[in-house]
Amino acid sequence: MEKRFIYADNAATTAVSEEVLESMLPYFREDYGNASSIYKLGRDAQKAVETAREKVANAIGADPREIFFTSCGSESDNWAIKGTADLMAGKGKKHIITSVFEHHAVLHTTEYLEKHGFEVTYIPVSDKGLIDPQDIKNAIREDTALVTIMYANNEIGTIQPIDEIAAICREKGVLFHTDAVQAVGHVNIDVHKQGIDMLSLSGHKIHAQKGIGALYVRKGINLPNLIHGGGQERGKRAGTENVPAIVGLGTAIEIATRDIDAKNAVITPLRNKLIDGILKLPYTRLNGDRDKRLPGNLNISIEGIEGESLLLMLDMNGICASSGSACTSGSLDPSHVLLSIGLKHEVAHGSMRLSIEENITDEDVDYILEVVPKVVERLRSMSPVWEKMMKGEKYE
Ligand SMILES: *Cc1c(COP(=O)(O)O)cnc(C)c1O
Repeated sequence: MEKRFIYADNAATTAVSEEVLESMLPYFREDYGNASSIYKLGRDAQKAVETAREKVANAIGADPREIFFTSCGSESDNWAIKGTADLMAGKGKKHIITSVFEHHAVLHTTEYLEKHGFEVTYIPVSDKGLIDPQDIKNAIREDTALVTIMYANNEIGTIQPIDEIAAICREKGVLFHTDAVQAVGHVNIDVHKQGIDMLSLSGHKIHAQKGIGALYVRKGINLPNLIHGGGQERGKRAGTENVPAIVGLGTAIEIATRDIDAKNAVITPLRNKLIDGILKLPYTRLNGDRDKRLPGNLNISIEGIEGESLLLMLDMNGICASSGSACTSGSLDPSHVLLSIGLKHEVAHGSMRLSIEENITDEDVDYILEVVPKVVERLRSMSPVWEKMMKGEKYE
């Protein structure tokens, strides 16, 4: 078996594509003007920013004036949530509804607000990783300021019933925000048709660079300014525009949302082949609903192994994947997402996420399906937990 390099962690970040990079380069070189300057060099930069804004708007069914560029998905989430909290607190509304398995850009923001007089309801998710819109309906109160529910989960890829949730919020007169960082480019989105009030997206998950994002804010919602200063972003987020990054986001989102259905038709069978292949191993389970999930996502728990060891051994075989442990934070706590769908700690620890895209080949898939069982067998053969399991002993 010849070693390959397979990047299967597109949910963590993506490579800047050639087309994106090419579209950005002129704004580093000859078109370096400040978008606020009135001479041609500045006006050209301004034009480029507005063209990118139109592209972002078109990609999600918004009006360009509803798009604000930010520095990342996390910033968009923070602005939407804290901004709405500010806006609504004045009207005596200090209750927020979210879910237990949001990205930390949302959860840590709502936790911050809890320390500042807000009450937050965390909606549970089913063992399939799905939110029941009825739970949202039941949680809405007179003083609910905002419902914020992610469009697609970053770890297990499950796609939430956003239309139903948005309809409930609309009916109850509550603002609805969605973190769509993982969904954009993989799911067809039309914010106006779907009744979404605010939506966060990020460039580096769709082949633009790291450090650029956008927030869609429906016309009529007057979020407080995020950064005070100059008149950029209609005065709401001051600071000289990052023109190359904005242009790159425009190119990236245009490409990412162009042929979503065709792309998904290519990825889904390959993803399913991977799922079926890995699930042939004993004591494995697929995390998250099989059908209501992002086409490129698979998340599988493999009992008797440690996720980190698995990742290191996959890396030695040229495969970049991710696990269910929050090793990034330096803690060994298993992922809050995997716990939220009812996994035991030790099972959550042995989890692996692959996030693939349409550039993956059938040969790549075969390679992964050769490597993973070998690595798992090796790790299990060294694992005291596995040994106990095989002897039928209980392990904790
Ligand atoms: C990556 C991600 C974010 C954060 O986006 P950044 O641009 O990295 O700040 C937020 N939410 C979800 C669901 C993500 O996957």
